[in-house]
Amino acid sequence: MNDTLLSLSPAERRQRERFARKSTAVAENMLRRVCALSHCPEALTPFLDTLRRVYIDKEDVQTPEGVPTVGTYCVMVPPELVYAHGAMPVKLCSGSYTAFSIGDDHAPRDACPLVKAVMGAETIDALPVYQNCSLMAVPVTCDCKKKLAGWLSQRRPTATLYVPSNRERDESLEQLVRTLYGLSDQLAAVTGVPLRYEGLEYGCRVMANAQRELSRFIALRRRYPTVLRGSFAMAVMNAMSYTWAPRWTRQLRALNDELEQRAKAGERAVRDNIPRILLTGSPVAFPNFKLPLLIEEMGGLLAADETCMGERGLYDPPALVDRSVDGILRALANRATRPCTCPSFTDNRRRLYRVRQLIEDYQIQGVIYHVLRGCLVYDYEYQRMEEELEQLGIPVIRIETDYNEEDVEQLRIRVEAFLELIKYGGAL
Ligand code: SF4
Ligand code: SF4
Repeated sequence: MNDTLLSLSPAERRQRERFARKSTAVAENMLRRVCALSHCPEALTPFLDTLRRVYIDKEDVQTPEGVPTVGTYCVMVPPELVYAHGAMPVKLCSGSYTAFSIGDDHAPRDACPLVKAVMGAETIDALPVYQNCSLMAVPVTCDCKKKLAGWLSQRRPTATLYVPSNRERDESLEQLVRTLYGLSDQLAAVTGVPLRYEGLEYGCRVMANAQRELSRFIALRRRYPTVLRGSFAMAVMNAMSYTWAPRWTRQLRALNDELEQRAKAGERAVRDNIPRILLTGSPVAFPNFKLPLLIEEMGGLLAADETCMGERGLYDPPALVDRSVDGILRALANRATRPCTCPSFTDNRRRLYRVRQLIEDYQIQGVIYHVLRGCLVYDYEYQRMEEELEQLGIPVIRIETDYNEEDVEQLRIRVEAFLELIKYGGAL
């Protein structure tokens, strides 16, 4: 037994053991279902192994010797800046059902499950990826994140980032640039590495390489929409949260090479005529893969996603015009806000535009709009999205879920009916 376990009371030890058993079972079940889908590429293995290591083996992320980790709670925390300070960013937005059930005792009933899961993981202290972070970076993008930032800061070093909700004004950008300088100071304090041009250049380079490989991945999926199942793509993007960026880039390169060969040989993961679905809405964080899996188990293809645990997290590169420290920080602040399709901003036209673009690029036939219970920012936007999609003649369904498996059968029926509607036409 290790020192941490020895210091726990018997009740705490029992709670931890229960947590370990249950969370392992949920993660194992999700990974088993991912692997059971047909045509899983061989090169997907390292991504699945990463998720297995973090959620089943309960290991910390693998970093080069001596590199500390920094927990980030939104794609708006620029990974380039964390790498610039000699640390590794680890995205900690959690999809753990077991951590959620523990967090449920610490948060109000109507808080979203993602934040409850983070609070649960923090309380139980049994997942090293959470425990070992030197700093937590939490952007205040919604009420749940705001309260989470306050709660976390009472327990460990936390950087609270104030993200302006109106991104059109110049002052908003200035405010975010100042915020990033503040984050940089906190990163320097925990890593001992000051902000220098060379560090930022390194951070931008590793992320640009990852973005380049992701662009290849996106181009392949656009050109051959049935070459890869979307649940596999979600595993790739979720694994990035826990992988040193240069290693993830190499893994993605191998996957792209395999997909390219498959595409050239005329191999497809599914038939061309099955319903192609776009998933948008609240984040889909592993192990909460129930919606992507249901779509594909019930005979649909998750052809694309517009969620921040998917491609959105790495989609937009910063526009580096002024290559000074200040110029790069401004480019990162700009990238975090102006093109971002997160509905936490007051103006959400970009998201509608992006969804229209995805529908065209991936020949989408239906949209599933995912709302995590209590996630008001996404729920507010549903009506506009529905109106927009109605004009395009694309069927859409709003699906509200929580972090448990109680609603799975009901969701299965709704997803199946939606896929039937697309296949045969008719009313829901
Ligand atoms: S949904 Fe928006 S606020 Fe929440 S993590 Fe994603 S980008 Fe950040
Ligand atoms: S954006 Fe939604 S899912 Fe994310 S923390 Fe806020 S309420 Fe939760």
